[in-house]
Amino acid sequence: MDTVTVRIMPQGEAFTAEEDAALRRAGSIIQGGGLVAFPTETVYGLGGDALNAESARKIYAAKGRPSDNPLIVHICRLKDLEKITARVPEEAMRIAEAFWPGPLTIILHKTELVPAETTGGLETVAVRFPSDRIARKLIEYSGGYVAAPSANRSGRPSPTLAKYVLEDMNGRIEMILDGGQVGIGLESTILDLTVLPPRILRPGYVTAEMLGSILKEIDIDVTIMEADSGQAPKAPGMKYRHYAPKGELVIVEGASNQVAEYINVQAAAEQEKGEKTGILCASENFSRYQGNVIKCVGSRRDEEGIARNLFSMLREFDDEGVTKIYAESFEASGLGQAIMNRLLKAAGHHVVKL
Ligand code: AMP
Ligand code: MG
Repeated sequence: MDTVTVRIMPQGEAFTAEEDAALRRAGSIIQGGGLVAFPTETVYGLGGDALNAESARKIYAAKGRPSDNPLIVHICRLKDLEKITARVPEEAMRIAEAFWPGPLTIILHKTELVPAETTGGLETVAVRFPSDRIARKLIEYSGGYVAAPSANRSGRPSPTLAKYVLEDMNGRIEMILDGGQVGIGLESTILDLTVLPPRILRPGYVTAEMLGSILKEIDIDVTIMEADSGQAPKAPGMKYRHYAPKGELVIVEGASNQVAEYINVQAAAEQEKGEKTGILCASENFSRYQGNVIKCVGSRRDEEGIARNLFSMLREFDDEGVTKIYAESFEASGLGQAIMNRLLKAAGHHVVKL
């Protein structure tokens, strides 16, 4: 199959006639059981009809994703929650009012309308109402319920640019809507509202502190930051190796001068052995490194910038043929928790503590 890419302006008063026609065409592809990748404020999504079991199967096949790893259902109107969810607790509405549209996914009990294929066989469904205007219009034109995991091949870093979607999905899906670089760069926060107290299953842009303004009590899944907690993660997808570049990634933690010294010595030794080495660092430490593929992911004072750059830089190391990557470690509070969760998974929890 030929994958068609259509450019759509991410901002603006209204869609142009051509853009609107492309969005309608994308919507009818999804309604007809096909797949369309589209931008959201978090990362690019791979969309299919959430109420069609066959579409869910196609999504798993296109991604190479295990079919026990459930999909997130995207909606574009709060009232559409009713048809797909049951026994909605009162907090869900307060959470939705506070954070939707936006980068938060909530888990609720599902109705029969949602096929088991979409939820990986679970009786619960993950729902998100994104804020991105292209995503919202596409969902509307697709009939209101779009199942969309991140638009990468399973295990790879999530795409933050359409060119990375094309790299992973060319020939596997009908269409890509290119809305430029996404704003946030990390996947949505996942909050399970079927348990008491509500529990964060995946950290994201909406932090525990922010949710704390609405909820009295919140749990955080212990598996989020630990390599081997002995427990299975409550979000099935979190058990898989994820977000990983092709090169082997090691995180080095410690005082910044020691980290730089350690990385420089190790990288030189690896180069001797014939590895192509890369370094992912904060701008504060950039000048301490030399002689490698060096990528500055942003300033430690700008976590939003780090979040936005992280996945694309992991992919750039691949593009440059890097086989061994050393990454500095980052503060794991606030948005930093989501950054470190992704980095730890990308590294398979390989951390050197100095
Ligand atoms: P992605 O689509 O790549 O953002 O991944 C979606 C994530 O949501 C995966 O880690 C899933 O395991 C998680 N998820 C989706 N539905 C559920 C659910 N019903 N219960 C728990 N986790 C879910
Ligand atoms: Mg994903």
